[in-house]
Amino acid sequence: MALNLFCFFGRHMPRRSHMKWDGAHFVSDCRFCKSPIRKHKTGWQKIEGGDQPLATR
Ligand SMILES: [Zn+2]
Repeated sequence: MALNLFCFFGRHMPRRSHMKWDGAHFVSDCRFCKSPIRKHKTGWQKIEGGDQPLATR
């Protein structure tokens, strides 16, 4: 599975139905690559560690 171009450039798109508040940030998972992501001031970024390995490296 190829990464979506948005994901390739680090601009993940959250699935609103999966969005939740973890006490400090909004977290969700990417609608394209299914990676866990967290909302930062600059946008949604992948959560490093604790995620499933990517299928393509
Ligand atoms: Zn993504």
